[in-house]
Amino acid sequence: MLWEWGGIWNWLGNAMADDKGYFVELGLGLGADDVVAFGIDDIVFDPRTLLKCMFGCGDWGKGHTCPSRPGALKPWEYQKMFERYSWGVIVHSTDKKVSQEVSFAIEREAFLKGYYFAISLSDCALCKECAGYKGLACANPKKARPAFHSVGIDVFKTVHAFGLPLETLASEDEGQNWYSAVFVE
Ligand code: SF4
Repeated sequence: MLWEWGGIWNWLGNAMADDKGYFVELGLGLGADDVVAFGIDDIVFDPRTLLKCMFGCGDWGKGHTCPSRPGALKPWEYQKMFERYSWGVIVHSTDKKVSQEVSFAIEREAFLKGYYFAISLSDCALCKECAGYKGLACANPKKARPAFHSVGIDVFKTVHAFGLPLETLASEDEGQNWYSAVFVE
């Protein structure tokens, strides 16, 4: 009996490794600059992201996916939920829209593969100007997700551990790196 369980665990481990590789290849095929698989211990949680959102960000009180949204969870509440996941993938692009489209496509594919809790995190680039700036309802609530950093994750520290680029910038004219993530299972 023991060897049977061993066989099942091996099979599960191989299936998971296959799916990680599959999502990485899917993201790269869709145009991401980098896609890396992570384990939950690779994610650096830090509630200080809320300070940077509250003070100094022009989206505060406006963006529909921001932590200022009425009823938004706090970083420490998000952490409890995200720590229930064991793995996922990080998506990097120099194009905000590509980063979002790729992560959403991976979320959908993961869901269809049976990972029913799969959820993506990405800066929203669906509208030219977020409807929240005009006090209107979100134009695309089925696709809009919170940004990777906005849920209390130190994206700098997290992606640097994978050797991926992310620096503070003096102005928006400098080249930007956009990061999304999909928490798969
Ligand atoms: S879909 Fe449009 S309105 Fe909704 S969060 Fe994204 S940019 Fe804002």
